Amino acid sequence: SGRWARAMAILREVEEKCGTPISKLRQVADAMTVEMHAGLASEGGSKLKMLISYVDNLPTGDEKGLFYALDLGGTNFRVLRVQLGGKDKSVVNQEFDEVSIPPHLMTGTSEELFDFIAKALEKFVATEGEGFHPASGRQRELGFTFSFPVRQLSISSGTLIKWTKGFNIEDAVGQDVVGELTKSMEKIGLDMRVAALVNDTIGTLAGGRYHNQDVAAAVILGTGTNAAYVERAHAIPKWHGLLPKSGEMVINMEWGNFRSSHLPLTEYDQALDVESLNPGEQIFEKIISGMYLGEIVRRVLSRLAEEADFFGDTVPPKLQIPFILRTPDMSAMHHDTSPDLRVVGGKLKDILEISSTSLKMRKMIVELCDIVATRGARLSAAGIFGILKKLGRDTVRDGEKQKSVIALDGGLYEHYTKFSTCMESTLKELLGGEIAESIVIEHSNDGSGIGAALLAASHSQYV
Ligand code: ADP
Ligand code: MG
Repeated sequence: SGRWARAMAILREVEEKCGTPISKLRQVADAMTVEMHAGLASEGGSKLKMLISYVDNLPTGDEKGLFYALDLGGTNFRVLRVQLGGKDKSVVNQEFDEVSIPPHLMTGTSEELFDFIAKALEKFVATEGEGFHPASGRQRELGFTFSFPVRQLSISSGTLIKWTKGFNIEDAVGQDVVGELTKSMEKIGLDMRVAALVNDTIGTLAGGRYHNQDVAAAVILGTGTNAAYVERAHAIPKWHGLLPKSGEMVINMEWGNFRSSHLPLTEYDQALDVESLNPGEQIFEKIISGMYLGEIVRRVLSRLAEEADFFGDTVPPKLQIPFILRTPDMSAMHHDTSPDLRVVGGKLKDILEISSTSLKMRKMIVELCDIVATRGARLSAAGIFGILKKLGRDTVRDGEKQKSVIALDGGLYEHYTKFSTCMESTLKELLGGEIAESIVIEHSNDGSGIGAALLAASHSQYV
């Protein structure tokens, strides 16, 4: 029928526009490398901020003592405490709690947000059990993972550059986030010192390195996306400080803000961007990360409904609600292996209140999920390939096979299997035969929390 032909035409167009042939991925990776150089050369030299983290030493395994960590960067925040045993003992003990952030706090005032966080932290500290006390007379110390772009002033202070991922608290922009948190802690008499301010990529890199010395970079694929890696300090022209003894500096790329004419963007992406809280920004993030993939699918479905009467004569009202289709639901549909695609049918019914769908329609929806997820996965692989190129680890040099481990974390990577397997196979495809064997992707399960605690330990006032 005409409807069906129109629907197929729309889907084929989306497929074509989202296409990521290997040649395009190579262009994206090259553009990433070019922007990395530009961002390192001068402040504001690139869309890639390439932020200096002040982390010039990564964990060695000798870290010891009780440390707290706070991880804020998406919809939930986590508080944790770890008892580090020192040499050969690793993490002796750890406990954590997860608190979801009430949506109104994501767009309220800075004081409200940090008061809320400080209170949750205080509650958690109050549950400190056997084997989790600081040595007598010592202040508790905290590693603060704050996963938004921050201009670091030191390892333990930094000002917020901008919000991303659905947060928008105007009066916090330009403020020292550690100062804000400390004020809120002081208000309620919580005596704790922020020893390290990092973001989730740096935390994941630190946590990864603690377990495996070959970790060279970390990538987050969660609500948002970002990457960090270890750079040679003398390859950072914009760094005018003393060269660190280690000769290294961890760089927070803020790659979510990457953009390039080589990125395959569609009209759906453009509309999503224009209507977002941060138009024109975080373009890479908006086609890759968990906050947006489901929303892209919703936008295409909505067009199918409007222009091809895909769901009948009327457009299902729920389908018009932005962000109603979440990436975990998209993932569930994409992974549906039942012969009649009953998960797809169930999701359409429960979320979009679309009660009758044919198998043919469901198959098409699965295909749409596949198109959108594949683009995101392949582009994240291109990003990683770009980092490896920057580090000169994309080829075998002088017959030497140095192992490079990339620590990966985030809910999208962890739970969206088709996404992560596609990302990993695409990276192999980009690297090609021989070198592919020496590049390893490792899941750093909640490395970011532990990593922040480890960095708090190495920057403790007592060492
Ligand atoms: P954050 O990035 O907010 O710190 P996570 O790393 O836990 O937190 O990632 C959460 C994100 O992961 C969610 O926003 C969602 O997009 C994605 N996600 C979680 N579960 C799934 C799933 N089952 N399938 C696909 N994506 C998922
Ligand atoms: Mg996180």
